[in-house]
Amino acid sequence: MTQSFSELNLAPALARAVAEMGYETMTPIQAQAIPQVLTGRDVMGAAQTGTGKTAAFSLPLLQRLLKHENASTSPARHPVRALVLLPTRELADQVAEQVKLYAKYTQLRSTVVFGGIDMKPQTAELKKGVEVLVATPGRLLDHIEAKNCVLNQVEYVVLDEADRMLDIGFLPDLQRILSYLPKQRTTLLFSATFSPEIKRLANSYLQDPITVEVARSNATASTVEQHFYRVDDDDKRATLRQILRERDLKQAFVFVNSKLGCARLARSLERDGLNTTALHGDKSQDERLKALDAFKQGTVDLLVCTDVAARGLDIKDVPAVFNFDIPFNAEDYVHRIGRTGRAGASGLAVSFVSARDTRLVADIEKLLGKKLEIEALELEADRRPAGRFNDGQRAWQRGDEPAGREQPVREARAPRPPAAPRAPRAPADPLFDQPYEAKASGDAPPAWETAQRSAAPRSVSPNIKTRRKVPALFKAPSPAEGG
Ligand code: AMP
Repeated sequence: MTQSFSELNLAPALARAVAEMGYETMTPIQAQAIPQVLTGRDVMGAAQTGTGKTAAFSLPLLQRLLKHENASTSPARHPVRALVLLPTRELADQVAEQVKLYAKYTQLRSTVVFGGIDMKPQTAELKKGVEVLVATPGRLLDHIEAKNCVLNQVEYVVLDEADRMLDIGFLPDLQRILSYLPKQRTTLLFSATFSPEIKRLANSYLQDPITVEVARSNATASTVEQHFYRVDDDDKRATLRQILRERDLKQAFVFVNSKLGCARLARSLERDGLNTTALHGDKSQDERLKALDAFKQGTVDLLVCTDVAARGLDIKDVPAVFNFDIPFNAEDYVHRIGRTGRAGASGLAVSFVSARDTRLVADIEKLLGKKLEIEALELEADRRPAGRFNDGQRAWQRGDEPAGREQPVREARAPRPPAAPRAPRAPADPLFDQPYEAKASGDAPPAWETAQRSAAPRSVSPNIKTRRKVPALFKAPSPAEGG
């Protein structure tokens, strides 16, 4: 199998862009998919995010479109030739950015359209003409209805994160969009998992596809250390703080199941003095991008998020993922913990299992095909008011506990398993080197490590909208869906 980009005979303009990105060796999904797409085959790819699948479809697609490259200013000479559909705005933005980089030395044009922002600038771009259009389904339909783009010359369509698109309920939108496309085309479908629904979708819209698979579907990366702890709802926050401290974690994703829960938890953790931001579908596009950026830059330590907002995001080296809530959909467990331990790096995934989660855990066991051990975790007697837990000393150590106040009672729980040693880092992996760098250890430590902390709770961070009216969080349909 081809391993090096140089063996692909990519056009010099593309080869140059790839070289500039610093890629020499193809990732497994690239090595399998690129040669197939170059021959015009339909491909069904099972690949977890972070495997390099964007380049796996973008590069061969651009190579095949080069025959249409031209410098004309006439929009008619730049019809949409390739359509890439993704479930969320962030993913669309991320993929569009990559496509732009790969196409940078060609005259092929690309743009991205997604919901939640003004249509006008997108319309202007579309009217100028673009060969590669990256879009979320809802907004694309808006543009089609407004006659801002015509899709009758599309040669390639990519359904990326297809399982997620179906989960979100985009199937009718996808069916409509696909009905506008020429029958003669190459269709590529990428999905982290191949559910029966995905297979049905593929049967309907792909012709004799070749299947490429880089990880067993529904597999979790072996580099992720997974723990399931039995935790009562009321103890979840304290448990989270305890594990952050014990494991000396610099940053983490904390997943919750609802937008409202997400906003609330982020606020509570902020009040606990943790440097937190929230990412969910009721945040504006701008807020969501800012939250992500803050996490990537290391200016926030905890990103509390919902599934829709966080799926597939290319943030590498997230040291830990917490399932504050067990996901309703077992496949989301795989996606959530896929945020850590990416590209060979080690990671930690901790799930809090409350009494009512038995069925959800059973679903995960079924999906992973193994029995999960639900461990007990002894909670330290550190249940003091917000903002005070992390001042380097326990209250009973400092003797400043108010007279007469009872020491918190330790609950009778099984002894806490010793904190496992941090797994050694995996050998250098080019995938792992860029673009995200976790906070350097020399940087300001995260809140849970800070020795001196004011006893007063910190004011809520600007990342969290305190004045948002609660009913606004129940808006339907979810704008997170990019449409
Ligand atoms: P993706 O799975 O497409 O989201 O890609 C994950 C990350 O891998 C992106 O940051 C890419 O820039 C990077 N990447 C893609 N292909 C390669 C490669 N062959 N070598 C190193 N990094 C890559």
